Amino acid sequence: MQRTFSIIKPDAVRKGQTAAVLAMMEAAGFRIVAIKKLSISKPQAAGFYAVHAQRPFFDSLTTFMSSGPAFVLVLEKENAIADLRKLMGATNPANAEEGTIRKKFAGSIEENTVHGSDAEETAAFEIGYFFAGYELV
Ligand code: GDP
Repeated sequence: MQRTFSIIKPDAVRKGQTAAVLAMMEAAGFRIVAIKKLSISKPQAAGFYAVHAQRPFFDSLTTFMSSGPAFVLVLEKENAIADLRKLMGATNPANAEEGTIRKKFAGSIEENTVHGSDAEETAAFEIGYFFAGYELV
């Protein structure tokens, strides 16, 4: 079993797509280990996306991620990290495959519905960034 970290981003929450996204995750075999709704502040978003600090879209991305409530979650299944990335689809929804979350819901390369960790080390960092150990059940 492997755990990964995900965010249902503010665009999807605003558009009322939270339950539909969660349903796709559960239908794909992910167990929801932990979930909470929160408003991520701009400094919190900057810390979370620190690896992108030098990218031209960093300010826009952190503004977007702090633009409204989001759901943060921890998901579990075999091969969870790679399987969630597959279920999400490409960063740019224009390139996302049929049947993926981003193909179905994402509006743009930035407002793209969902986040998923890209490696074991990032998953560990990201889970710890938003959850305490006792919340993971
Ligand atoms: P991900 O792993 O598929 O989420 O993609 P990245 O780690 O490369 O980028 C993180 C997030 O930054 C993406 O999910 C988008 O919300 C945003 N992003 C990525 N590339 C761009 C871009 O070229 N322009 C803008 N405005 N946002 C971007």
